[in-house]
Amino acid sequence: MLSAQFRPWHIPLFLAKYGWLHVTRRPVLVHFEVTLRCNARCGFCDYWKTPSDARHDEVQSFADAARFFNPMMITFTGGEPLLRRDLEDLVAGVDAAVGLKYTTLITHGGMLTAERAVSLNRAGIHQFNISLDYLDGRHDQARAIPGLTARIMDTIPAMQAKGVSAIRFNTVIKDDNLGEMMPLVHRAAELGVGVNFSVYTDFKNGNATHRLGAAHLAELDAIIDELLAYKRRRRGVITSSDAYLESIPRWVRGQLAKPCESGIRTIHIDPVGHVKRCPDFPTDFHWREWTSYEPIKCDRCFYACRGEAQAPLRWSRVQDVFA
Ligand code: SF4
Ligand code: SF4
Repeated sequence: MLSAQFRPWHIPLFLAKYGWLHVTRRPVLVHFEVTLRCNARCGFCDYWKTPSDARHDEVQSFADAARFFNPMMITFTGGEPLLRRDLEDLVAGVDAAVGLKYTTLITHGGMLTAERAVSLNRAGIHQFNISLDYLDGRHDQARAIPGLTARIMDTIPAMQAKGVSAIRFNTVIKDDNLGEMMPLVHRAAELGVGVNFSVYTDFKNGNATHRLGAAHLAELDAIIDELLAYKRRRRGVITSSDAYLESIPRWVRGQLAKPCESGIRTIHIDPVGHVKRCPDFPTDFHWREWTSYEPIKCDRCFYACRGEAQAPLRWSRVQDVFA
């Protein structure tokens, strides 16, 4: 599901850029963590404990780093990126620095308004990814933001009414929301948005409460089958690749033997400009000293950013893009 700002003829250009990045061993996707501060209070992430005065150390521009990496895909993330009042300036700087790219913002949605979405869209954000793990008050409780789910449901039509149409739910599959997966997909279809799945890990802060384990495998297998069947009937709503979805139960069973390739096709740049191979590893160097990463024997997570980067390119993926 590409943003309406792109046309089918952009696809060969993206494929050519992908080939160039692959040959030169440069990351295809760069995540700019514009702040680690956050005004949610999730039990599975400690970013919200970042002191507010950390903002004084946050860089004022990622444009030079963006120009250096010249990636095909760019994500602005956090913490909560909308806490940065200068987010439009950060986005516009990166937008001017990189030619062909697809730019996404990840937000919990609690501060997102249609007006802010329009202003970020004008600055260069093509797609808005809003975290949503449940369709009811459990999501508000998990993020400790009262009224969050209702707010998201109101904001999306308001964004669409103003012409901001590339919107996805970022949904983390956990122990207690397996029954929410298909209702979430159906709600997304009604709203005209996509759903991008990821899977819970306790690597962020050691909170194992929501980890999937042996007790959930039968239900997980059934849900994944349902999601894949839905994709065969209708593409363009579930934006996760078939290969990634199929691999989730194998990861839960500990059957993924391949080393993790994080840091090769995707990197994260933290708020002070340091590079890490994935969101939850420590930083290794400043982006100016970047050297490419090697695969690592780690299986602590199966986030979409790991699983999608390693997913083989199949015809079903091409169908997803065209849908
Ligand atoms: S998971 Fe996201 S919304 Fe929750 S505290 Fe961490 S950065 Fe904030
Ligand atoms: S499996 Fe890869 S992406 Fe996940 S925590 Fe380990 S190194 Fe990071």
